[in-house]
Amino acid sequence: MALLDRGARSIFLWEVVKGLGLTFAYMFKPRATLNYPYEKGPLSPRFRGEHALRRYANGEERCIACKLCEAICPAQAITIEAEPRDDGSRRTTRYDIDMTKCIYCGFCQEACPVDAIVEGPNFEFATETREELFYDKDKLLANGERWEYEISRNIAADAPYR
Ligand code: SF4
Ligand code: SF4
Repeated sequence: MALLDRGARSIFLWEVVKGLGLTFAYMFKPRATLNYPYEKGPLSPRFRGEHALRRYANGEERCIACKLCEAICPAQAITIEAEPRDDGSRRTTRYDIDMTKCIYCGFCQEACPVDAIVEGPNFEFATETREELFYDKDKLLANGERWEYEISRNIAADAPYR
């Protein structure tokens, strides 16, 4: 300060006062940040997160093994094998998604005629190994059971716009 002349000193002090004013103004405004992971922001019903395979309310798998999702996937991340059951219905014997290939485009969900494969609201599925990102049918069905409430609510919220 001692090296500054009078004009420079007043500019310096004015900038300090302006800075403090700005600090105090923001102290009384709502926070612009979240204390993640303890706080989370709102998600759109169209958010495309971790995949899930859904069941009907009676427990029956929705997927009818039509393979449209496998055909449309631009990343070729989905692998399905299927065979007819004794009652004549077709169900998958294998439903894998390689999540390391997936680009979260949502085409699988769009193509599915029975809302079986969906991208749910979960975005917290980071893993420590690559192998954990090779999802099989059990994993996808378990995701469906875990997130069914949120998934069905999101589908209902989005339905009027489709
Ligand atoms: S979101 Fe896109 S890339 Fe991922 S599995 Fe579905 S169709 Fe394939
Ligand atoms: S998830 Fe849907 S689109 Fe894919 S095979 Fe099953 S019914 Fe067909």
